[in-house]
Amino acid sequence: MTLTIPFDNSYARLPDSFFSRQPPAPVAAPELLAFNDALAAELGVDPGTAQDRADVFAGNRTPTGADPLAQAYAGHQFGGFNPQLGDGRAILLGEVVDRHGRRRDIQIKGAGRTPYSRMGDGRAWMGPVLREYLLSEAMHAMGIPTTRALAAVATGEPVYRDAALPGAALTRVAASHIRVGTFQYFAARQDIESLKALFEHTRARHFPQAQSPLEVLEQAIERQADLVASWLSVGFIHGVMNTDNTALSGETIDYGPAAFMDSYHPVTVYSSIDRQGRYSYDNQPRIIVWNMAQLAGALVPLMPDTDDAIARFTDAVNAMPARIEAAWRRRFAAKIGIDAPQDGDEALINDLLGLMAEASADFTNTFRDLAHGNARHHFPEPERYDDWHTRWQDRLASETDPAARMLAANPALIPRNHRVEEMIQAAVAGDMTPFHQLLSALSTPYDDPAPENRALTEPPQPHEVVRQTFCGT
Ligand code: AMP
Ligand code: MG
Repeated sequence: MTLTIPFDNSYARLPDSFFSRQPPAPVAAPELLAFNDALAAELGVDPGTAQDRADVFAGNRTPTGADPLAQAYAGHQFGGFNPQLGDGRAILLGEVVDRHGRRRDIQIKGAGRTPYSRMGDGRAWMGPVLREYLLSEAMHAMGIPTTRALAAVATGEPVYRDAALPGAALTRVAASHIRVGTFQYFAARQDIESLKALFEHTRARHFPQAQSPLEVLEQAIERQADLVASWLSVGFIHGVMNTDNTALSGETIDYGPAAFMDSYHPVTVYSSIDRQGRYSYDNQPRIIVWNMAQLAGALVPLMPDTDDAIARFTDAVNAMPARIEAAWRRRFAAKIGIDAPQDGDEALINDLLGLMAEASADFTNTFRDLAHGNARHHFPEPERYDDWHTRWQDRLASETDPAARMLAANPALIPRNHRVEEMIQAAVAGDMTPFHQLLSALSTPYDDPAPENRALTEPPQPHEVVRQTFCGT
């Protein structure tokens, strides 16, 4: 059987202003690097032969029913508005309705130039492709909403960045690729007809219970509040929270310079281009509120009474910080074994984080070791930790089974930056073993790892510490 995908495309039926039809540009020698069989089954994809998969997910053969296109969008990048971005290197093949009745996009990233490529080559190299594959699948396994990875293919062609690097393409699956920047694109052009069509498509697809732009905004805010709180709870730093990288679906999207923290410090930044720390770990709650304010602004033209709309939308955005805090409290309370947070719990959590920051304690291992009752060794001044520990134990006296709650809230395994780098270097040299070992270990992040995977829980040695990550363009 050849590879078949049961396409059911809806974005392609929206007005021409939404996209440019664009087939992927074929590559020299496609070779399959990774394929997600479980996800393929969920999508109803018949995987065909390995050669089929390599050809289709490199863009060398357009499967029946696909309607390839590049989506138009705008976005605030590091706070500055760009009215014209769009898929410069990604091509949406189409959509499927999965086994659970959910509509999902299938998109190839690194599929060649499009009308939105500007100066770019439309390609990606193997490093960021495998990094996104691994990080997005790890995120999913942690239970955090995210785009998924269906396939990674080597193109057999070099791409030129600082040096010649092996090219690759990632097939990404998303609830949709509608971004805050998609709304901004039409609002900035005052193309109200398209804005209305986008709103109705988005409402039906992601917010079927919502009756109005205000309700869509409120529900989008709720999802993003939960999402960012869940990132914080696993030490995740997105790195490039531009409005074009904020999805209406509430999924994590665009793992350019994304990274999980090793030692805890609230102002941690990895992205090489984030010189001001705009998207630091600690700033993510503020940035997401700012991004949702941009969404609110783009929805105003849909409302008959502008002043009234601004007043209501402003209230919704102003309510967001408290929602993020509540979600943060719930998640961090669970990380220390508490079911329903009470007065005083926030101080308990913050005091622990303060001690961790002073000690540069490993974020993941400290929380995991709390669950196992052996976190003391993370603190060079254990007496201060002991005081905290006593307060904590007093608080836990009224909780049932806090250890189980902690094990379910504190992953043992994250994709550590030095392991990701090591994996990329091996893959470039032709060895995919580290990739597959990491992927497999990260599929059960809340289990104590098997003996052969225990080394993956170790923080980097001083010479292994990764201080910077790159956008991967
Ligand atoms: P990103 O940083 O991946 O979110 O991308 C920001 C914008 O730059 C998007 O419009 C991308 O499509 C575009 N872009 C990034 N890399 C490339 C590339 N290699 N070729 C063309 N466009 C690109
Ligand atoms: Mg992007």
